[in-house]
Amino acid sequence: MAKVLIIGAGVAGASAALALDEAGWDVVVVDKARRPGGRCATRRLSVDPASPWFDYGAQYFTARDPAFRVRVERDLASRVLARWSPAVCMAEQGRNGWQLTASPDDRERLIGPDGLNHWVRYLFEQADIDVRCGQGVRRLQRTTQGWRADLGEHGYFNADAVVLTAPAVQAATLLGDYAGALPALANADDALSPCHSLVVAAPALAECQAIFVKDGPLSWCADNSHKAGQTRTNARLWTLHAGPEFSAARLEDTPESIAATLTREFADITGLQARQMRLVRTHRWRYARPGPAATALDMRCQAALNDRLVLAGDWLAGGRVEGAWLSGAAAAAQLG
Ligand SMILES: Cc1cc2nc3c(=O)[nH]c(=O)nc-3n(C[C@H](O)[C@H](O)[C@H](O)COP(=O)(O)OP(=O)(O)OC[C@H]3O[C@@H](n4cnc5c(N)ncnc54)[C@H](O)[C@@H]3O)c2cc1C
Repeated sequence: MAKVLIIGAGVAGASAALALDEAGWDVVVVDKARRPGGRCATRRLSVDPASPWFDYGAQYFTARDPAFRVRVERDLASRVLARWSPAVCMAEQGRNGWQLTASPDDRERLIGPDGLNHWVRYLFEQADIDVRCGQGVRRLQRTTQGWRADLGEHGYFNADAVVLTAPAVQAATLLGDYAGALPALANADDALSPCHSLVVAAPALAECQAIFVKDGPLSWCADNSHKAGQTRTNARLWTLHAGPEFSAARLEDTPESIAATLTREFADITGLQARQMRLVRTHRWRYARPGPAATALDMRCQAALNDRLVLAGDWLAGGRVEGAWLSGAAAAAQLG
């Protein structure tokens, strides 16, 4: 049985793994993180499995592609996905400060009732895929037989084929000189832009559970306690995401200074007092969402087929969870 190594246990890795497993490959997935999910990142407040959770990466996703919809319908039926219908508002700067206006839409928003990360883990588990977390690839080298991945203290892994789903900059680093053979990596630095993410305990708002912010350091605020399946708690957990310009300009700022700016703006937008908020978590996503180069790419995946290497990931497919899924599926189709 031919062996394929999938680097990255995010949505693209899951999609590729399921399709290649189905096609009869011997599939092994490695990820440098402690658990699968990648940017579909969920944490609980404490180790108590009943404690409230929050999504601090992807917030929800949409599904339009017919093939992706088949997966989504199945997972909705299994209740590992749910529909989320928050009251959505738009925050805009007016003459007298921030204005919050209802911004209703009929978009179907999909979430994991126990967080988006739970869904990605389910994808691997239900197909019994061999996922090895805490194993980062340091170097990927072409050999006469196929590929050799240097896993540091975990030794070497030899495979007939590789699907590489790491963000572009990280993929280029792993490949070294070989990256020059893959045009998609030519502008790797601009493929994904950063995002500062913050989680604060703060009261619920009567009129909205999700806020799109126009022209501010913030771009998105969401009340996690409103997501399906959440237990009601006094401490509502809001996820706040900064916009790409602010995140890039303040990339190296301290978490404290980022938190101060974003919570102040959240308070200004919502009318909440600073004393009503408690900082729970800060996170800097260095590679978060498609940057200028990714928009131009939109090729789903890029293969060096003679060498049985395929690059995949959201940055090759317009970004977002759906893009990542379609990219992983396209990569699997390339290997056949
Ligand atoms: C703050 C934020 C908000 C977002 N909001 C939304 C949203 O609301 N809706 C939406 O659809 N999308 C959203 N996204 C985008 C969405 O999360 C991504 O499109 C999707 O999760 C990308 O999946 P992926 O598998 O392509 O990449 P990733 O999830 O990044 O997976 C790549 C994996 O590769 C691993 N890796 C990297 N290098 C190595 C290495 N050397 N060795 C081993 N493993 C390695 C990483 O640890 C990671 O797990 C958001 C993203 C962020 C960060």
